[in-house]
Amino acid sequence: MAELDPRAVQERWQRVQQLAQETEQAAIGRWSVAGLPGLLRLQRELWAAGDRAIAERLDRTDCFVACDRGCNWCCYLNVPIAGLEAQVIADWIGALPMAQRRLILERLAQTLGQLELINPGDRLGHKIPCAFLEPDGTCGIYPVRPAACRSHHSTCVADCQQGWETGQWPARSMPIDTQTFDLEAQNTGLQAACVALAIPLATGELHRALGRLLLD
Ligand code: SF4
Ligand code: SF4
Repeated sequence: MAELDPRAVQERWQRVQQLAQETEQAAIGRWSVAGLPGLLRLQRELWAAGDRAIAERLDRTDCFVACDRGCNWCCYLNVPIAGLEAQVIADWIGALPMAQRRLILERLAQTLGQLELINPGDRLGHKIPCAFLEPDGTCGIYPVRPAACRSHHSTCVADCQQGWETGQWPARSMPIDTQTFDLEAQNTGLQAACVALAIPLATGELHRALGRLLLD
């Protein structure tokens, strides 16, 4: 494994800190003029900006990823989610046609029941798919999938498949590390703003956060 350049690590850390603080300030400003709807819009804007940054990075010839539509070995991993992300997803599901919404909520309840029976760290070993994974292998909440899913990429699908089969996900440096750290920093900033503004939001693991918003 290549050694990390301490200066590069330090610069990245400073960038992450700065971006988190800038995002927190932007979120507090947005709240003061537009309240919670403004914060939820900001969350979507940051997702979209992150998508653009990732797409631009992937367009460069030195950057290869194996990810493709319908590939989903990674959709059996636990997904951490920030509070505003959970609220945007819950609102999006709430606006679906009733039959589609009912199906998603049934799958969510079923998956939560399965997760209750296992140690959270053993989910991959138990092959419990994300409740939002569609039968055709695509993501059922793709337009509002969380930052962790937007930024997760791999350069080798065979490694992912092997990770799924063995229950040991490969530790792999991702080709879009900078964009991933940016999305995480922005989520940290949004989360800090919610704490500062005393906005109670569901956060944590994807299913549990959505269960609290949609099923409780
Ligand atoms: S991270 Fe791996 S399993 Fe997930 S879409 Fe990319 S190649 Fe497929
Ligand atoms: S939200 Fe979508 S992309 Fe993320 S794990 Fe679930 S099905 Fe996969």
